[in-house]
Amino acid sequence: MRRWLQPIIVVLFFIVPYFDLFRIDIPSGHYYWFTRQLPFSQAMPLLLTVLWMVFLVLGLSFFKPRLFCSHFCPHNTLSQWLRKLQRYKLDWVLAIVLTPIVAFTLIAYFVDPRTVWSAITQDTSRMILIFFLVLCLFIGALLLRMRHKFCSTVCPYGYFQQLFRPERTTVLGKVVTGSLLVLLGGATVLSVFFTSGLEIDLGTVARINAGTRMVYTYELRLINNKSEAETVTVTFRKLQPVENPFSEPLIVQPGDAVKIPFTFQVQKTEEVYFDVCPQRENRCQTFSFSLSGV
Ligand code: SF4
Repeated sequence: MRRWLQPIIVVLFFIVPYFDLFRIDIPSGHYYWFTRQLPFSQAMPLLLTVLWMVFLVLGLSFFKPRLFCSHFCPHNTLSQWLRKLQRYKLDWVLAIVLTPIVAFTLIAYFVDPRTVWSAITQDTSRMILIFFLVLCLFIGALLLRMRHKFCSTVCPYGYFQQLFRPERTTVLGKVVTGSLLVLLGGATVLSVFFTSGLEIDLGTVARINAGTRMVYTYELRLINNKSEAETVTVTFRKLQPVENPFSEPLIVQPGDAVKIPFTFQVQKTEEVYFDVCPQRENRCQTFSFSLSGV
């Protein structure tokens, strides 16, 4: 299994961010989960994914010491490949070729790869360029010199491995760890499925005393992070806004951020209660508050 798993993991490491399979785009405030773009404000799938990854890496030690290192860690696989090439004195060629690719890929997990590319080729971001160069130095030292010495001297996971040996892990421990991994993985997938890519937010714009009445202006903000258009209906159950801008359903195109202002005029205290319902999703977001009169 190890023979085919190692190259698969290395290939996955290199392609995952470029196909938006999993990427945390810090500058844009979004993350990608199997091409689905989700905002940081809807962080549950991201938290569960990170938790699942940490749990997977640690949990593998319960089954066999260094199972993660020997089967999954890309650093180990690359170091093994380099060691094989050392016999032909060609390891340095592969190390030099891999250094910028690995550095670029690592940054691409956190910044859009196109942004990284333009930062390097057109100097559009000095910070990314410097970070890339520093990372190249580190990765270069890792691949050209340190290789497996990194595992025994620097990697904290290497130390962690010392704590878990098969004779210390009971069958029950393995069953519990395996079950938790499966449950957490299932919860992660479900959380993505049930997380909306539509951000709904309400902002207060103005509150004006117009003599005989109070005039309140609000703004409904919708950001469509999905790859398809979303139709949104807004239904007011109690007080109606002046010249209701939501009499027709709204269509929010993919990537669009729209702001729709609406106004209430009240003479005495009134209740506002309305639902914002994306058509593709089986849920509505409800807003309720009261407005005081003059
Ligand atoms: S000790 Fe660290 S770097 Fe080395 S193979 Fe294990 S996880 Fe990878």
